[in-house]
Amino acid sequence: MEHIQENIQKIEERIQAACERCGRNPSEVTLIAVSKTKPIAMIQEAYEFGIRHFGENRVQELVEKYDNLRELFPQKIYWHQIGHLQRNKVKYLVDKATLIHSLDSMRLALQIEEEAAKRDLTIDILIEVNIAGEETKFGVAPEELMSFLEEVWKLPHIRVRGLMTIAPYVLDPEENRKHFKKMRELYVDIKTKNYDNKDTGNNPHHNQKLDYFDTLSMGMTGDFEVAIEEGATMVRVGTGIFGER
Ligand SMILES: *Cc1c(COP(=O)(O)O)cnc(C)c1O
Repeated sequence: MEHIQENIQKIEERIQAACERCGRNPSEVTLIAVSKTKPIAMIQEAYEFGIRHFGENRVQELVEKYDNLRELFPQKIYWHQIGHLQRNKVKYLVDKATLIHSLDSMRLALQIEEEAAKRDLTIDILIEVNIAGEETKFGVAPEELMSFLEEVWKLPHIRVRGLMTIAPYVLDPEENRKHFKKMRELYVDIKTKNYDNKDTGNNPHHNQKLDYFDTLSMGMTGDFEVAIEEGATMVRVGTGIFGER
C-alpha cells in the first residue's frame, strides 16, 4: 500500500526547500505526477490531495485514463504526454494532451501540425533535447536545436512552449547538474535570442513566438531537486509519488 498523500506532501516539501535554496518561488515549479502503469484509483487519490497534472508515456493509456476521469473531474485534469510519441498515435492524442513534452523530429512535428490543422487546434509542445548525447535516448542534439526550432516555429498550429530532457540514470543526482545547467543555458539563449541567426534580430514574428516560450521540463524522482536548482519549471515525478513500477 502506497501512502500517496504522505508521498505528495514530502515531494512538495522538497520542492519548496529546493526553491528556497536557490531563491525561487515554488509557484514557478509545476509538479507533474507521472502515473504511467498506475491504476485510476491512485490517480483519483492524488487528485484528492491536490495534484492536477499527470504524465503518461503511452498514448493508449493516456487516452483511456482521460476518458475514465473526464466525467469525474471535468476540465480539471491536465494530461502530459511525456514519452516518445509515434506519428500514427498523434491523431488520438492531439485534443487530449495539455502538453506534448517529447517532440523529437520534424516528421513528428509535421504530423502534429496536420492533425491540429484538421481540428483547428493549437498544440503546445516541448522540444525534447538529448542533452547527454545518449545513444539509447530520443531527442534533438543540442547543436541541432536552433535550426530545428526555426523549422518548428514555421508551423502555425504548433506552439513551442519550451524544452524537455530526460537526464541519464545516475545514483548521485549531482552528476546530472551539468546537464541541467546546459539545458538552462539553451533555454535562456533561445529566450534572449542570443544565438547566431541572421534574421531573428528584431523580427516581431519571433518575438511573438518567444512570448509562449516559458517551460523547462526536467528532473524526475532521483534528481528533481538539482533540476529545480538549475531552473526547471516542470518536474516529472513518478516513483516518488506512486511507488515503484
Ligand atoms: C517514467 C518517467 C518519469 C518519472 O520517473 P520516476 O523516476 O519514476 O520519477 C519522468 N519522465 C519521463 C519521460 C518518464 O518516462
